[in-house]
Amino acid sequence: MKQAASEIPPKRVRNHVVQVLDLLEDLWRNERNPPRLGHDDPLEGLILTVLSQNTNDKNRDRAYARLRDAFPEWEEALNDPAGLAEAIKPAGLSLIKSGRIANILEKVRESFGEISLHALRTWEPARVVEFLRSFAGVGPKTIACVLLFDLEIPAFPVDTHIARFTRRMKWASEKTRPEDMSAFYEAIVPKQRFLGAHVNIIHHGRGLCSARSPKCASCPIRNICPAAGQFI
Ligand code: SF4
Repeated sequence: MKQAASEIPPKRVRNHVVQVLDLLEDLWRNERNPPRLGHDDPLEGLILTVLSQNTNDKNRDRAYARLRDAFPEWEEALNDPAGLAEAIKPAGLSLIKSGRIANILEKVRESFGEISLHALRTWEPARVVEFLRSFAGVGPKTIACVLLFDLEIPAFPVDTHIARFTRRMKWASEKTRPEDMSAFYEAIVPKQRFLGAHVNIIHHGRGLCSARSPKCASCPIRNICPAAGQFI
């Protein structure tokens, strides 16, 4: 999750990023009041992030609650693939996601002798990334979420709101991949700001800088936003 020094963006871009993040913090305050997004067992965060793919938080949370109601022990989910798929239906793509979850549970059991990822807390970050990357359907965003939220390893996940916002700020092009946006933020933003800044941008994307009708007139960063007023 590191970027080479030669890839660090120019100073004017870095200054712009810091200025924007400061204004977002004044508005949304998640750096001062960081939300608790981690879980007792990082495995829970990993499964939740798999469920969240291509759906919203509400459906993800419904699916996860149903999953744990149906299978309080992960072992039981492995013995009932049809029940696993049924339980997570609210999250959509239930056959694909249930296959991915079963694969994760199996591999975790094989690797640790129990279905838990507590052991990752003692691993080096590079080893954790390599391990998580070995699962089908677990990509850079999922890995960054588990690192940041569950393992407190610095990483900057980029979801659809952050990708849209980053493009509107002209910090990335339409073709830039989310994982390259993560590297951009990780190269510029101080690590201790990652969690709060990540959540601030998501809140901004949901609250003001929405995909279809951004509310530029009431946005506190309109004076330094390259996309301000383009949506009227
Ligand atoms: S000024 Fe408009 S486009 Fe720019 S960040 Fe604010 S809401 Fe988004």
